[in-house]
Amino acid sequence: MFTSLKSRLWLTYALMIVLVLGAVGIGVLLSLRKSPLVYRQPLNQLEVVVNSTIGRINTNPGATGFESILTGESIKTKTRLALYRADGELVFDSDMHPGNHLVIPTPLSASGTGEIRFVNDQKNRGWLYTLKPINDQFYLMAAGRLPRLPLLLILRDELFTPFVRAGVLAMLLAVALAIIFGNWVEAPLNKLARQANAVTQGNARPIPLEGPAEIKQLVGTFNEMVTKLNASQESQRDFIANVSHELKTPLTSIQGFAQAILEQASPAPDETRQSAKIILNESQRMNKLVIGLLTLARLDAGITDSKKENVDLAVILRSVLERLTPQAQNASVTLVDQIGPVPEIMTDAENITQVFVNLIDNAIKYSKKGGKVTVSCLQHGAEVEVHIIDNGAGIPLQDQTRIFERFYQIDKSRRGGVKHGVGLGLAIANQIVKSMGGVLTVESTPGTGSDFMVKLPIE
Ligand code: ADP
Repeated sequence: MFTSLKSRLWLTYALMIVLVLGAVGIGVLLSLRKSPLVYRQPLNQLEVVVNSTIGRINTNPGATGFESILTGESIKTKTRLALYRADGELVFDSDMHPGNHLVIPTPLSASGTGEIRFVNDQKNRGWLYTLKPINDQFYLMAAGRLPRLPLLLILRDELFTPFVRAGVLAMLLAVALAIIFGNWVEAPLNKLARQANAVTQGNARPIPLEGPAEIKQLVGTFNEMVTKLNASQESQRDFIANVSHELKTPLTSIQGFAQAILEQASPAPDETRQSAKIILNESQRMNKLVIGLLTLARLDAGITDSKKENVDLAVILRSVLERLTPQAQNASVTLVDQIGPVPEIMTDAENITQVFVNLIDNAIKYSKKGGKVTVSCLQHGAEVEVHIIDNGAGIPLQDQTRIFERFYQIDKSRRGGVKHGVGLGLAIANQIVKSMGGVLTVESTPGTGSDFMVKLPIE
């Protein structure tokens, strides 16, 4: 009962309607209490009595007989009559019981006829009265008890029906509004619930932004989550597809050549050597892939048996250049050393060596014959910047952010072989640099070359 949004809304509206109608009703009654309309009739009667009594007093000159005139008129008209001096002092009251005295506000001269006046007696009972000057010395007042009946009658005869009608109409409107408003809020929430359910099945879709601002914000956050989740699921699928592809290709090749060796009745030594060479290459490639995947898995899990020590990057860079010199010579690429002195940093020497090997190895691999790879190193504030600049083919703008993804290779047709790796080198380098609190970025112009920068904090 009243647990749904719509029924709660309707209940709130209904309570508000009852409260508003009640407040309006009380307001109307309170204002009617002092309204001339309600007291017109008793007031007219009082005026008639005042006028006729004044008439009688004036036709009996000499103030001696006024007490009997007032008493007589009071009894005859069932009206309380009182005589005041101009200064407000009571001269005579037809109801002289102590405690019933009516305190009339002064100055009396300010009073006019036809105006409704209320006064309480000393027992706090309400009176309606009218006051009129007899001459310039005396005033006559006629007072009657404040009638209670008209208010109840008005309430019953005049107010009840319109209030009930207004109430019914307002309740119907409240139902309509509760349905409209409820739908406005509920529709996006229902969609959200359906899609949240779909998340568990892995096929959630973003929802259109509808409804109140708070729900739009919630839906926006949900959509963001769904987009990220879908992207992560997609990259997971891609990852598995890539790993299986990268493993399947060399395995098929190894299998094929091994089988060929076995099936040859009298194998020619050259052919066998050639097949063995291919098998070796392919298994080296697979080994590289497995080592790469294991490194990434360890980095992802944060399990690095890293030994932090004071490392001189200049020394490490020179040793990497030395290690890769034969490879550069084979490719007819010149290595240029512009390594300046830099402060030592606390880091893992083996991991940072791996980063520079990957980057310089790429720079050599992707350079043309006769190309140049420049390695520089300098301090920039609280950081050390290492640049590996080549004048090779460069990297198209749309690929510059993607090359750090696992298995991403620009020229997919050149996949395979020893020269072209498995597409994990930059992903590993990026992950290592990140784990050291640094950044790895690239600036490249196709046709001109690339500049890979590693920025590491000194502290
Ligand atoms: P790979 O094993 O293919 O070298 P990487 O992760 O090291 O994988 O590099 C990803 C891709 O980025 C490469 O396939 C290549 O297309 C591109 N790339 C990396 N370094 C360079 C470079 N210095 N110049 C041009 N392209 C590069």
